Amino acid sequence: MNPLKREQIIQSLKSDRIFDLLIIGGGATGCGVALDAASRGLSVALVEKNDFAEGTSGRSTKLLHGGVRYLESAVKHLDPVQYHLVRDGLKERGVLLRIAPHLCHRIPLVTPLYRWMEIPYIFAGLKLYDVLAGSMNIGHSRLLTRRKALESFPMLKTSGLKAGVSYYDGQFNDARMAVTLALTAASTGATVANHVGVTGLLKEGNRIAGAVVADSLSGDEWDIPAHCVVNATGPFSDTIRKLDNPDARPMLKVSSGTHLVLDEHFSPPDTGLLIPRTKDGRVLFIMPWEGQTLVGTTDEPSELSEHPRPMEEEIDYLVHYIGRYFDLQFSRNDIKAAWAGLRPLVSDPGKSDTAKLSRDHVLEESPSGLLTITGGKWTTYRKMACDTVNYVIRRFNLDCNSECRTDRIPLIGGAAFETGQGARLAEEKGLDPLIAAHLSRAYGDKAPSVMMIAEDGFGDVLAKGYPYLEAEVLWGARYEMATHAMDVLARRTPIALLDTAAARASAQRVVKIMGQELSWDPERCRQEERMVEERLSSAI
Ligand code: FAD
Repeated sequence: MNPLKREQIIQSLKSDRIFDLLIIGGGATGCGVALDAASRGLSVALVEKNDFAEGTSGRSTKLLHGGVRYLESAVKHLDPVQYHLVRDGLKERGVLLRIAPHLCHRIPLVTPLYRWMEIPYIFAGLKLYDVLAGSMNIGHSRLLTRRKALESFPMLKTSGLKAGVSYYDGQFNDARMAVTLALTAASTGATVANHVGVTGLLKEGNRIAGAVVADSLSGDEWDIPAHCVVNATGPFSDTIRKLDNPDARPMLKVSSGTHLVLDEHFSPPDTGLLIPRTKDGRVLFIMPWEGQTLVGTTDEPSELSEHPRPMEEEIDYLVHYIGRYFDLQFSRNDIKAAWAGLRPLVSDPGKSDTAKLSRDHVLEESPSGLLTITGGKWTTYRKMACDTVNYVIRRFNLDCNSECRTDRIPLIGGAAFETGQGARLAEEKGLDPLIAAHLSRAYGDKAPSVMMIAEDGFGDVLAKGYPYLEAEVLWGARYEMATHAMDVLARRTPIALLDTAAARASAQRVVKIMGQELSWDPERCRQEERMVEERLSSAI
């Protein structure tokens, strides 16, 4: 792999050429559109105001799923929209497991059943879930006796437990997936930059003709002309729509979802537990993720914020509900990290409860030609991208007649990845199996290259008890466009999402390694340390 030099990327964005497509936003949607368009031969620029996946795409529940809850809604209300949402999600789940086998894996999930009448209802529903996946099914749902359910998930409340159903979904590392999508788009010819935000839109007559952007590192501002501008800013879609037309009617409501991270012993190492609908209509889950336990989530109407902070009431809600549904002794002191994400939900003025708003995606063209793609799910980013690029080619008469083929393009690290790679790496290099498994999952077939850096004096772990290596800091800065220390701590590795104290303890080392690689002066190093502390003590 060639190092990705930020100056060269910025220079290329400053060249006079007119891009076919300028994408605003480097989350799942924007990076997905960039890869799809570049792989069809279009000239593509993507700008992300913060880091890739610093928005919602790095704060999801990390499930690749059709949505068991939406299936219930599809059946109960004979709702074709929800039905297609589930079917598309299941198909995409299969595609993502194939094109990014290092970053995604299947996970068994158990749903506990406390009422006899639920057993046929939930089991039939999950069997239908398998059927809808068709040839993309990743495992068969099974009815579990009470004993088997407790064996699979010993933390279940025993009182009143009748049985359980086990089924499969996908699990993934969302932030690394978005970064990998951005890198794959770049390797396919797109010019992608993080920490460059759109501050205005360019117009020729009354048509959109590009955008004004600002580099938050240098402070430089310039214009990027483009035939078509795609607004993929998730919860911020209305902000960009208002740059186009200050009177545009808002199309989104934003809802916040909080996750808590607990120690690994709060869940079995390879099985999750999911309650599709609690008494108050929420999804509740406990599952292993990156060696720790992820608990969530909430669904509360929220204000727009770049770094949403988990609300105290949301944390209280989760602590309370977990105690109600699971046999777990845990208090606020057991929480190692907490973070919130904002769902971009396409709004219906008649509905005030965000849990009921559509999770389907919407592609809107404004009278001046600004395209907004929003809503949907992480799982369906590829389909959203494909719909967008198909529309763009037709509507803007772009010279391109190739079809979407991102279902066959492996993401970087996925092409030569093999399931046994982690174990082999451990054996050949005498590595701790946990570290080898982590490197293999995070970097796929690039893991041996990361190991070479580790062997060159960067082989220590960043935080005790975690498998993340110093080598990954250097790799992130050199090959993955990590520009701030927090980019490494929260997205190239997930340390800050897993353990605030561990992230704090690693900060100085991360800054030192990045400083050497990116030639930071002492003042920049101090500034970076302050930035990390600011994020960790407020909202990451
Ligand atoms: P974002 O990821 O928010 O990306 C938009 C980007 O635009 C941001 O990075 C932002 O910085 C950037 N931006 C904003 N303004 C500008 C500007 N002026 N210039 C340049 N860039 C700008 N989906 C699943 O499939 N599975 C799940 O398990 C799941 N769990 C979820 C849990 C929660 C709590 C939430 C909130 C969502 C969950 N989702 C899940 C949904 C999924 O995460 C989102 O649908 C998806 O991440 C949205 O991606 P996006 O790219 O549209 O938005």
